This record gives sequence, structure tokens and C-alpha cells, in this order.
Amino acid sequence: MSLDDFYCSRTVKAIRKPHECEQCGRQIDVGSPAEYGAGKYDGYFYARYQHIECRAAGMAYAEATGLWGEDFTWFQHADSDQRDDIGEWLLEHHPIVAERINYQREEVSA
Ligand SMILES: [Zn+2]
Repeated sequence: MSLDDFYCSRTVKAIRKPHECEQCGRQIDVGSPAEYGAGKYDGYFYARYQHIECRAAGMAYAEATGLWGEDFTWFQHADSDQRDDIGEWLLEHHPIVAERINYQREEVSA
């Protein structure tokens, strides 16, 4: 961290260009609301968009797990072990986002 690092975010009511959601990896459609975040970290400028629901789910997940900052969980980048935990948690709390990352509970057939 250097002194000129910063981060800011705001809610966009309707995006004018399609963007990929950082959290689920799917496209956010033009005209949809999105959470826009921009910052500078270690001299690099970055900007990202997330679905409103994905951002809410991401924040809630970080709250539940205590994983913030470097350890923050991006659902689309989770490894397969983590994915089951995240998927189950999403199905329970944020089913829309579970669907976006294509998580489905495996049917146990006898
Ligand atoms: Zn998303």
C-alpha cells in the first residue's frame, strides 16, 4: 500500500455498455443497474463492475467468513473445494447468484 492508493465505488442506475461482472463472470446487460468500483493499488489503476445482487452476496459472504481484502472471495475464481461451500451458501442466501455461477445441488439418486 502506498499513500496514493485509493478505492471508490458507486451504484450506477443503468449501465450504457455491457460489462462482465467481476463476481460471477457473466455479462451485465446494458440498461441494468451495476456496482462500479475503481481504485489504484500498487500503482495500477483498475475498474470493475458487478451485478448489484452479486456485490451484495460478495459482501455478505466476506462478512460471514471474515475474508476481506487480499482474501476476498470472487465466486467465479473459487477453486473446486471452495465452490461447493460457496454454492451451498449462495443457494441458501442468494439463489440468484448461485444460478449465475451455475451452481446446482447434486441430486443424490438412490
Ligand atoms: Zn454477477
